[in-house]
Amino acid sequence: MEQKKFYITTTLPYVNAAPHIGFALELAQADVIARHQASRNKEIFFNTGTDEHGIKIYRKAEEEGKKPQEFVDEYAEKFRALVEAMNVSYTNFIRTTDAEHKKAAAEFWKRCAANVNEKGESDIYKATYRTKYCVGCELEKSDSELENGRCPTHLTLAIEEREEENYFFRFSRYEKPLVELYNAYPDFVVPDFRLTEIQSFVKAGLRDFSISRLKEKMPWGVPVPGDSQHVMYVWFDALINYISTLGWPASAEAPAGKPAPFYEWWGTREQPNAFQIAGKDNLRQQSAMWQAMLMSAGLPNSRKIFIHGFITSGGEKMSKTLGNVIDPMEVIRRYGTDPVRYYLLREIPTGEDGDWSEAKFKERYNADLANGLGNFVARVLALAAKEKKLERAHDVPKEFFARIQEVRKEVAGKIDSFRLHEALAALWELITFGDEYTNKKEPWKIKDEKIRGEVVFTLLSLMSEVGEMLVPFLPATAEKILASVEWKSGTDTVKINRGAVLFPRLE
Ligand SMILES: [Zn+2]
Repeated sequence: MEQKKFYITTTLPYVNAAPHIGFALELAQADVIARHQASRNKEIFFNTGTDEHGIKIYRKAEEEGKKPQEFVDEYAEKFRALVEAMNVSYTNFIRTTDAEHKKAAAEFWKRCAANVNEKGESDIYKATYRTKYCVGCELEKSDSELENGRCPTHLTLAIEEREEENYFFRFSRYEKPLVELYNAYPDFVVPDFRLTEIQSFVKAGLRDFSISRLKEKMPWGVPVPGDSQHVMYVWFDALINYISTLGWPASAEAPAGKPAPFYEWWGTREQPNAFQIAGKDNLRQQSAMWQAMLMSAGLPNSRKIFIHGFITSGGEKMSKTLGNVIDPMEVIRRYGTDPVRYYLLREIPTGEDGDWSEAKFKERYNADLANGLGNFVARVLALAAKEKKLERAHDVPKEFFARIQEVRKEVAGKIDSFRLHEALAALWELITFGDEYTNKKEPWKIKDEKIRGEVVFTLLSLMSEVGEMLVPFLPATAEKILASVEWKSGTDTVKINRGAVLFPRLE
């Protein structure tokens, strides 16, 4: 049975710095998937928000002379502003400092602690924790992950050696169940090569990981239930947001005779329904750690994890030192939301790494948006506006109709298989096809009103189809295109509303 409800979540960015263009990419990709599902008449729950605990934030707040809560309040707003500026169709913006989230995290912890193995050992236990830790990643590092004793992602930060008594999560117990999960759902992680990657990670053997910190050293976290000395390790609490956003645990209780809202969205063991999107640096956390945590708490797993790549800037890793950091808010202010969405979705191959450069941006913009889509729409509307009367009675030629259906199917298939850049490529081929058809038919030379009307009506239908297929990708542009063709109420006559140029050329 096909689910009527669709749940999708981004990861929650960590709010120790301004929003990154990589998060804008994740938002854009998630939004395409969500809007596409909405067009299938599904009810959507789209979750996003901010991850706000942990030592990095605690220290950054200290540096800026602020209370941690004050600091995260300020930063969370920057992320919310980006979500709005990207025109993302989200349902809930969750913050891990929300009171309800903290309650859910405590309940989740208790359920894991209550889960014991055949030897009677709990999934959560205390042990001495000695590790090499990268403060930049907020992650423990094994020697093989370090390069010359440094984290390759954070070369300027010294690796810290730590030893303290912590709570551990019995990750090792979930090796076999995780392998079984990946086997049961061969598309559990998309693209394929990321599934292979996580399978080998799990098969190589899982080590229990620390899930608490001593409060006296690091107080900025969710209190561990029943132990005032400890707070939860930031990853443990943050991952739980994917269900606390749905009102878990309260929403998992069904009112008499009704299905529980939580399971309707999140799915059940038999029919998992939660779609997640994450960057490649989050593969392990989302597709292994979080899944094991869900199993431990007795909850259904996610259905699918889409993994995207990183964005370089002008071919190089973004860094403050190089001065090549792309600020998503700034490029949106300069070029507008839809051009930025278009670039991210078309130029960055879904699931892989891609590059941002001013030159490539302008090239894409001028070629695809100003000349391609914008010009096609302007041309069709100019032709249509000249017709005294355009009626539904005009037939769209059969082969034309077939071509549109074919592209529709292709675009939907590409979205479902997380090949969004290919979906856009297919859609743009249809625009080229429309341009070629116009050039071949030369409707401006046709004297016969009826024949000319048919050609123009065909082009208008094609333009509207393009507008509809654009909805998940460029929602505001699609709306303008669709609003430019209006059926006069009660008649079969079309009214044309020509608006401003969609995409003025960039110099
Ligand atoms: Zn690091």
